[in-house]
Amino acid sequence: MSDASLTLFNSLTRNLEPFEPIHPGEARVYTCGPTVYNYQHVGNMRAYVFADTLGRALSWKGYALTQVVNITDVGHLTSDADAGDDKMEKAAAREGKSAWDIARHYQEVFEADLARLNIRRPAHPRATEYVEAMIAWGKAIEEKHCYLLDSGLYFDVSTVPDYGRLARAVTDEGEGRIDTVEGKRNAADFAIWRKTPPGENRQMEWDSPWGRGAPGWHLECSVMSAELLGHPFDIHTGGIDHREIHHPNEIAQNQAHNCSADSGAHIWMHNNFLVDRRGKMSKSSGDFLTLQALVDRGYHPLAYRLMCLQAHYRSELEFTWGGLEAALTRLKRMVMAVEALKSRHAELVSASTPNLEPWSRPDGWILKQVRGDIGPAFLGLVEAFDGAISNDLNTSIGLTLLEEGLGLKKIPPEQKVAIIRTMDAVLGLNLFTLERTDLRIRPKDAQITEDEIEAELARRKEARAAKDFATSDAIRDEFAAKGVEVMDGDPLGWEWKL
Ligand code: AMP
Ligand code: ZN
Repeated sequence: MSDASLTLFNSLTRNLEPFEPIHPGEARVYTCGPTVYNYQHVGNMRAYVFADTLGRALSWKGYALTQVVNITDVGHLTSDADAGDDKMEKAAAREGKSAWDIARHYQEVFEADLARLNIRRPAHPRATEYVEAMIAWGKAIEEKHCYLLDSGLYFDVSTVPDYGRLARAVTDEGEGRIDTVEGKRNAADFAIWRKTPPGENRQMEWDSPWGRGAPGWHLECSVMSAELLGHPFDIHTGGIDHREIHHPNEIAQNQAHNCSADSGAHIWMHNNFLVDRRGKMSKSSGDFLTLQALVDRGYHPLAYRLMCLQAHYRSELEFTWGGLEAALTRLKRMVMAVEALKSRHAELVSASTPNLEPWSRPDGWILKQVRGDIGPAFLGLVEAFDGAISNDLNTSIGLTLLEEGLGLKKIPPEQKVAIIRTMDAVLGLNLFTLERTDLRIRPKDAQITEDEIEAELARRKEARAAKDFATSDAIRDEFAAKGVEVMDGDPLGWEWKL
C-alpha cells in the first residue's frame, strides 16, 4: 500500500482538500506568531502545538518543510481593528523598559516555552527587520488601494474582490470590529501605516512617505510570507480569531500587491480556542495561565502537549486541572511502556535516535523509510496511523494507535521500536527521552525537596526492614505534614506524590 493522501481543512472553502504542494516535494508553511509584549498563555501555545504537529506531519510524509513563525515586535494595537494603544509601547511604559527590551525578553520566554513543548524550531523572523520591505509594499499598493488620513495610510477593502470571503462575514462588520478611526471609507478598512500622532513620543518609529510612524500589524505577515516563502505558498495557519480580521486583511493586501484574486496561500488553517469556564483564554482577562504556571503547579509541559493532541485542532478544548492531570497520567503510562522496552533492548533504542533535524530535511523516521523496517503483520497499524494523521491531523486517533503499538506483544522488538518512533516523530511526545521520574508532580511551593523525600524514603525502608515501626510511622507523619503522599505498590510507579 502507498501512503495515504494528506487531506486538510481549508478555512477558505470550509472543505477538506487534498494537500497538493506548489513546489513538488516541498511544503511551505507560515504561522502567525506571537506579539511579544507579554507572556504567552497556554491558549496561544495551543496554536503553536498545532502548527508544529502540522509541520511534523508534513516532514513525516516526506516533504521538505520550510516553516516560518514570525515575531510581532511592532505595530500591534490593543484592538485588532486599528484602535487602542500600541501593545509594545504600552508594555514598555508598564514595565519601565524600552520597547526593544520588552520584545527581546518576551521572545526569549516564548522560545523557551516552544522548546519545553518539544516544538521544533522554525525560523523566527522579527517584524522590525522587515520595515523597509513593508514600506516598499505600501508604495506598491497605495495608488490603487489606499488613501491617506491624518492618522496614516489606510487600505480600502472595497478595492479588492470578495473582501472577507475567509471570514464569511455577512456584513462588513466583522466580529469584534470597532470603527473608531475618523474618516475611514469602510468600517473594515485598516491601517497600512500609522503616523505617530503630533506631540506623541514613540520608541519604535520609522520614516516613510506617509510620515514618521509604524507599520500596521496586518502588513507584516503579507510581507514576511512573501519574502520568506514566495506567493503563493502552501499553508497559512493561525488561531481561529485570525479568520475574522487579520487573515482577511492579509488576503486583501496580497490580492492588491500581487494583482490577483488569489489569496496568497493555497490552504488557510485555523486552530480552535483553548477555553476555560470563563470562555476563551485571553490576555485581557489578566490572570491568564502561562506554561510556567503549569510547571509551577508541578506538571510537565509535555502533559499539556498531550492534552492538546487529545482534541482535534478544530474543536474547542476546555482547560481543567483535572484534564491536565489525566493527560499526565496517560503520558506516564506511555513512558513506562517505553521504559520497559528500553530496559530490555537498550541497544535498539540508543541506536535509533529519531532524526528530524535539520528539521527541513527529515531523514530518520519518515513514513517511507519506516515501511521497510516493519513486517507485514504490523504494517497495518502504521498505515492506520497514517490514515488518521492524513485525515486532517486526527491526533486523537493517532494517540490511541500509538497506545496500541505500545501494547503489542509477540512482535520483534526492533519493529516495536520502529513503530513507536515513527508515531512519536509526528506526535512529538519525546517518549524515548522522557523518564518516569520527569513526570512526577512537583509543585514549586513544596515544603520539602525531592532529595529529602528520597532520603527519608530510604530511611523508612531501613526502619521497616528492622521492624522499627516507630521511626517508620514518624516519617509517614512528617510526610503527611509536608504534603507528601507515599504510594507503596502504586501500579503507575509514582512511589510518592506531593
Ligand atoms: P497573539 O500573540 O495574541 O497574536 O496570539 C498568538 C496566537 O494564539 C494566534 O494565532 C491566536 O489566534 C492564538 N490564540 C489566542 N488565544 C487563543 C486561545 N484561547 N486558544 C487558542 N489559540 C489562541
Ligand atoms: Zn499574521
